Amino acid sequence: MKNLSKFLILVLCVFLCVPCFYACNNKNNVESAKSEQHIYNLDVILDDDNKKLEITQNLEFNNFSNKSLNELKFNIYPNAYRSDAKYKIAPDYLEETYPNGKSYGSIEINEVSETVAVANYEICGDDKNILKIKLYNELKPNQKIGLKFSYVINLANVRHRLGYADNVFTLANFYISPCLLNKDGTFFENHYYDYGDPFAENLSEFNVNFTCAKTYKVFSSGEVENQKLNLGNTKTLNLTSELTRSFIIVASKSLKELSANAGDTKITYAYLTDEKPKSSLNTAVDAFKVFTNTFGKTGKKQVTVVEAPYCFGGMEFSNLVLVTTSALNEHENFESIIVHELAHQWWYDIVGNNQVTNPLLDESLTEFSTLYYYFKTQGLTTLRELAAKNLNSHILFLEVEKNVYDNVDESLNRALDNFKTGGEYAQIIYTRGSLMFYNLFELMGEKKFDKALKNYFAENMYKISEIDNLKNAFQKSSKINLKAFFNNWLSGNIEISQI
Ligand SMILES: [Zn+2]
Repeated sequence: MKNLSKFLILVLCVFLCVPCFYACNNKNNVESAKSEQHIYNLDVILDDDNKKLEITQNLEFNNFSNKSLNELKFNIYPNAYRSDAKYKIAPDYLEETYPNGKSYGSIEINEVSETVAVANYEICGDDKNILKIKLYNELKPNQKIGLKFSYVINLANVRHRLGYADNVFTLANFYISPCLLNKDGTFFENHYYDYGDPFAENLSEFNVNFTCAKTYKVFSSGEVENQKLNLGNTKTLNLTSELTRSFIIVASKSLKELSANAGDTKITYAYLTDEKPKSSLNTAVDAFKVFTNTFGKTGKKQVTVVEAPYCFGGMEFSNLVLVTTSALNEHENFESIIVHELAHQWWYDIVGNNQVTNPLLDESLTEFSTLYYYFKTQGLTTLRELAAKNLNSHILFLEVEKNVYDNVDESLNRALDNFKTGGEYAQIIYTRGSLMFYNLFELMGEKKFDKALKNYFAENMYKISEIDNLKNAFQKSSKINLKAFFNNWLSGNIEISQI
C-alpha cells in the first residue's frame, strides 16, 4: 500500500477500531454461546455413483439446560425423504420437485454408541423423525457426553434440501442433530412440513471431513481448513464452522464462482446457468452491506450464495444460502430471493428463532427486510410501491378466503401447523407479516425503526428469540405505547385495507 494521506490513515484507524468495539461489546453473548455449543466431528463420504452418503458422526452433546437429562432426542431429517413418509417434503402440485419422477431416500443407522452410557435407542416420533437415546446415568447440567453414530443415507433424485438433481448434490440436514434443547431441559420435537421451514436449532461447532470425487467443486457452511488428494480419484476437504445453526454442503462439477468483499465478509456466488452472474453477485454484496449497516455486524468471514435446483424459491443455512435456478427466468425476482435469503443470516442464523412455532420472527421480519433493502437502495417511493403490491395481493387473498370459509383466521402469531395450506402460510406470514413491519416503520420513522432493529439484533444474537423480545426492542425505541399495535396485528384484529 502506498500514497496513504494522513487523513486516510486517520479514517482507516477509526474503521479498524470498530470491529474491536463490536467484538468487545458482544463478547459476553459470544462467550456464553460458545460454551453452550454441541460439537460435531463428521466424516462424510459422497458415493456419487450410488447416490449415497456414508457417515461417521462423533457428537459432543452439551447439556446446557438447568435439568439433568435421562434421555436425549435427535432429529433424523433424512427419514422425511422415504417413500412412506407421513409428512411430505413438498406438495404434490410442485412437479418440478422430482425431475425424473418420484424418488425417495432413506437413512440406515448402523451404530449408536458411547463408551458406557447408552442403555438403548429407538426411532420414534410422529413420522419416524426422532431418535431417542436412553442413558444409563443422567447427564447433569453443564455435563457433556460423547456419542458415535454410523449411518448411510440413500439420496433421493429430488430438487430439495437433501438430494441430487441437475448435476448438483445438495446436502443439508443430513446429520443426526439434537432436537432444540430448552433451558428447562425439554426438547422441542417436530416433524417435517411441505411448506415453511421445519427447523429449530441450537448453535453448534462443526468439523467436517468431506470426501468426494476430485473433479467436484464444493461449497459449504464451513471454511476450508485444508484439502488433500487421496489415492484414486477422490479428495478430502476439512470444513469447519462455529456458532452455526445448520451445516450444508453443495457439490457439483458444473458450478462456477465469482467473489467480492462486503466489508470484512467475503461473498461468493456459485452458479450453474445464470447469464448475469456479476449482477447477482453485486446484489448479494449490496444486500450484505445494507443489512450490516442497518442491523449490525455478523462477524462472518464468508457467506456463499448458490444457484441450485430447488423446488421452492430459496433456503437459508448458516453461511450459505440456496436460490433456485428456476427463478432465473425473471432476474429481478431471482435477485430479490438472494436479498431475502441473505437477510436470514441475521434473522434465524444469528438471532435464532423457532421456525415452527414462531414463523413471524423468521419469515415476516425477513420478508420485510427484503423490502427494506429496496428502501435503503432505491428510496421511500419504491418501499411504498412494494408495500402497496403486498397489500393488494393480501386483500385479494382475503376476499377469496372469505368466499370459501365462514371464519378466516387473520392472526400472525401462529405456528406452522395452524395453517390449512402452504398458500395461506405464505400470505399470512410473508405478505401480511411484512405489512405489519411496514405499518410500524411508517408509525415510527426510519431513525427509531432502525434503532429498534439494531437493538433487537444486538440483544438477541446467538439466542433463540421470542415475540416479546421483538416487541420490547420496538417499544424501547419508539417511545410510544405499542401494546395495542402488536395485540391487534398479532391477533388479526386489523382492518387491513385501512393501513
Ligand atoms: Zn425466508
